[in-house]
Order: sequence, then C-alpha cells, then structure tokens
Amino acid sequence: MKLSNEEVTRYSRHLTLPEVGMQGQLKLKEAKVLMIGAGGLGSPLGMYLGAAGIGTIGVIDFDVVDQTNLHRQIAHSLGDLGRPKAESLRETLLAANPNVRVEVHDERLTRDNALELFECYDIIADGSDNFETRYLINDAAFFTKKPLVSASIFRFQGQLSVFDPASGGPCYRCLYSQPPPASLVPS
Ligand SMILES: [Zn+2]
Repeated sequence: MKLSNEEVTRYSRHLTLPEVGMQGQLKLKEAKVLMIGAGGLGSPLGMYLGAAGIGTIGVIDFDVVDQTNLHRQIAHSLGDLGRPKAESLRETLLAANPNVRVEVHDERLTRDNALELFECYDIIADGSDNFETRYLINDAAFFTKKPLVSASIFRFQGQLSVFDPASGGPCYRCLYSQPPPASLVPS
C-alpha cells in the first residue's frame, strides 16, 4: 500500500511526527474501525477518524437526524433533517477526506448481526446511547477479540475507556456486571 501525492501533502503534519511517520500513516490507512452511533459522540469521532486517514470506517446507526440533534451532533446540518444519521455522517467525512472508505450500516445492532459485523473490523468504538446496546457491544467485542473503545456521556460528565480482554485486560462486564434497572436509567 502507498500514499498518493495528494495524501502525502494532506498528511504531511503526521508524516513529520516521529510517532507516526510514513509507516504509521500507512497503518492508519489499513485500519478498519467500526463506530456504533453517529450522534453526539459519533460525530466528532467520525470526523477525526476520517480526517486522520483511517482507511475504512464503518458506521452503524438506524436513527434519522432531528432538529434537536444539531446543537451537539456536529456532523449533521440543516439539510440533513430527516435523513439517516449514518448516511449524513458518511457525506460529511467524505467531503473532508475522499481518500477514506465509509461503510454505512443503516440498521440496528442486534445479537443476530453483531458478531458478523465486528469480524470485519480491527477496533470497535462504542458511542451508543443505551445500556442494552452497550452490553451487546461488549459481549460481541469480547467473543470476536476486538479492542473496544467505550465512551459515554451524561449531561456534564463523560467516561472514556479502552477494554481489551484479548490482551489480558478487563471487559465492560468486569467493571459493571449488571445493567442498571430500567427504572433508574436516565435518558
Ligand atoms: Zn469481563
């Protein structure tokens, strides 16, 4: 795999960093990241992954863009109202960097499709907004042995962690063994 002349110019600030360099940039180009959620966390995540040159970015989200999303879900614009979020995010990423591949999965993540989907990627990034999905993602990442970057927010608090049980670390269930009862879950 090689970088085009346009890519060499585009990523020149990466290429001059000893921690990245040409070898690192090619690794980013070969990398496949699956993002779950194209909302408040997925918008900045996807935009940075795409701009940085992650070669293949999968986006799974079944929701559509609503006006109440626009103040924080910065990948979506007024013209995207009513459109699938995964599709809208894809356009935003490609507008900034057409060198990356964005695979849209306009569907709900379920126990029936999770394992097969996760197998196609190197890293799973969880930006989902409910506990049912969060535990499903943990379990599917565990069984497919994929590192899981897990992020969540509530009002003014945020949590971010990497779970990689395949390398001997804990998983999400090691930290939170049980989902909270439905009556205690904030929206
Ligand atoms: Zn565990």
